[in-house]
Amino acid sequence: MEKMQTGMTEDIASPKRTKELLQRHGLVLKKSLGQNFLIDPNILNKIVSAAGLDATKGALEIGPGIGALTQQLAKQAARVVAIEIDQRLLPLLEETLDGYPNASVVHGDVLKVELRPLFEQQFADVSGVSVVANLPYYITTPIIMKLLEEKLPLENIVVMIQKEVADRMSAKPGGKEYGSLSIAVQYYCEPEIVTIVPHTVFVPQPNVDSAVIKLKVRKGPPVEVEDEAFFFDVVQAAFVQRRKTIYNNLASRFFTKETKQQLEPILQEAGIEPSRRGETVSIQEYALLSKCLAKALGRS
Ligand code: SAM
Repeated sequence: MEKMQTGMTEDIASPKRTKELLQRHGLVLKKSLGQNFLIDPNILNKIVSAAGLDATKGALEIGPGIGALTQQLAKQAARVVAIEIDQRLLPLLEETLDGYPNASVVHGDVLKVELRPLFEQQFADVSGVSVVANLPYYITTPIIMKLLEEKLPLENIVVMIQKEVADRMSAKPGGKEYGSLSIAVQYYCEPEIVTIVPHTVFVPQPNVDSAVIKLKVRKGPPVEVEDEAFFFDVVQAAFVQRRKTIYNNLASRFFTKETKQQLEPILQEAGIEPSRRGETVSIQEYALLSKCLAKALGRS
């Protein structure tokens, strides 16, 4: 196998090297697994530098593919763990990660792997952990929500995702992108779009535009919420039918025809006009609203 002077294997983020590796291992990429591999070293550098890794930090990668990003993470971080679902890629990864003893691959479905014990075993000695990945697009949101809801000890999440999803995650109230995903992500993190990415940096090229987003994980939520499950229930309900008012959406979810007149004073107590739509209501307003609603419904 070709080796660079450092003892590390050759960088693989190029069209030629990617094609050669896939051909030699007899691999045909699976669209169903979101296999769009990165072939541009500049984009890889942008992703890795946004994560702010150093020799004391750990990185969890989801979907290493043939290891293009994994190699770059292993050069910067103390420890890299990469979870890959496609068993066919494991021998190939063994080859491309040869010479990177600080990188290891876990075979599994990230949505099923128990991440907390994995963190305890693999990242016990590092000063902080980032998730860094070019995510499989068919499960972007479930992956990010799993990472956030499990409250893993993460510093940040730097991921390539569909541009449209990145816009929704980072949206502010008032626009059509703002919705329950914006609120869920911003409850846990401060989002920042690092760069917009053209189709041409992938093999094969996806049909959608992409973006790298950095989610800086907050030490604590930006608002005081007593019952998180109920808070998110209220937020979901407010967006069930985006064209309806917040009054109508919440009335259908939490009241009957007979009891819905109770809702107006609750909205007023929270300082929200009943004629407003869910997309104009800020995270702070949802926090107060869920508190007032919980009290009125006898939940607190
Ligand atoms: N990191 C590589 C790169 O940037 O070139 C590959 C990224 S590709 C967009 C997504 C990768 O995620 C593929 O290798 C795919 O097999 C893997 N994958 C898909 N679903 C997965 C799952 N549920 N759990 C873990 N890996 C998954």
